[in-house]
Amino acid sequence: MTSLNRRQFLRVAGAAVMATAFPHAAYAQEHKLVITAVEPYVLKGGKCFVLVRTDAGITGIGEVSPMNAPAAAHLIANQFGGLITGMNPLDIDRCWDRIFYATYKQGVMGLQPEALAGIDIALWDILGKVTGLPLCQLLGGKRRDWVRVYASIGGGARSTPEKMAERAARAAAQGFTAVKIRMDYGPVAPDTDVPKDLATLAAVREAIGDGVELKFDVNNGYSAQTAIRVGKEIEQFNVTHYEEPVAQTDYAGYAAVVEAVDIPVAAGEHEYTRWQFRDLIEQANPDILQPDLVKCAGISEAVKIAALASAHHKLLCPHQTQPTIGQAANLHFTSVFVANDMAQELAEDALDSALHALFKNPLEFKDGRMKVPEGPGLGLELDEDRMRSFLA
Ligand code: CA
Repeated sequence: MTSLNRRQFLRVAGAAVMATAFPHAAYAQEHKLVITAVEPYVLKGGKCFVLVRTDAGITGIGEVSPMNAPAAAHLIANQFGGLITGMNPLDIDRCWDRIFYATYKQGVMGLQPEALAGIDIALWDILGKVTGLPLCQLLGGKRRDWVRVYASIGGGARSTPEKMAERAARAAAQGFTAVKIRMDYGPVAPDTDVPKDLATLAAVREAIGDGVELKFDVNNGYSAQTAIRVGKEIEQFNVTHYEEPVAQTDYAGYAAVVEAVDIPVAAGEHEYTRWQFRDLIEQANPDILQPDLVKCAGISEAVKIAALASAHHKLLCPHQTQPTIGQAANLHFTSVFVANDMAQELAEDALDSALHALFKNPLEFKDGRMKVPEGPGLGLELDEDRMRSFLA
């Protein structure tokens, strides 16, 4: 046997380590992986998971926004999947481009990027499984092991101050250190009941005490003038985040509110790609940007939006509504791209979701925080049999 110089030794030893610790990585170096199938699954409750299968037997999992789940599933099954079948799943940007530019005339705000998001997240999951690395490591490395989360409590417009306060108090008792009160107005017929909105915030603040952070989401329900007046009035409740005060289409109104109000204004759940976020930043100028990974064409596009946020010195606090795959993706993403300990969104009922039973290693919650999963990729192991028993 000939002796090896140091460089040769390291190369051989490195390959041996890779082959032992990460058999898929060694496989991927030897062979080009190929996407063999892209499968959407619409589940009870209107959720939509996406499985991307490969010839190496590795399957990535992703999730699509539930807003248009059946239509997104149709697009994925009948068009998007076919566009990347046969391609290398590790060429994530090329797969993304292949789908995005072939289908952008379907509309780049809404269904098209939502459907693409499910596939993109699954491709990142495959990359993690091939390399043996968690998603947060692939994205640049996490800044914390446990991400602070806030309970996102909705339906304020159709509820009472007392009931909203009860739900907020329950969240605080569960250990949440932050809550968000959502009015869920929508942009139609603005300024419907401002006195009740203020009474709701007063009741919630009273119920949770001074120690719990309070965020307020109007869901597009105010005119700009009202948004400015309310934004000043709610300073007394120590609100730290004033979300979508005006219609999502009213960039000039946003800019006026941001200029006039001291509480940081948040927006972005109605924006989808880097180009919409560029326009949002330039024209509406919100303080906090809220891309949603299962809506904004996936992790690949959210990374670009995070770069825009950084370049413009904006805070990043993604919108997030999904209890399992969407939440896991967001935990990885925020652990890397949110430099501070800002509380991230978790739906009020997410911890009780029946969907956790579809995974062999459900997400962990403790003391108002969720753990960034440690396994390869998203770090979630889907039980496909259980998923099939949960189909819509
Ligand atoms: Ca919102």
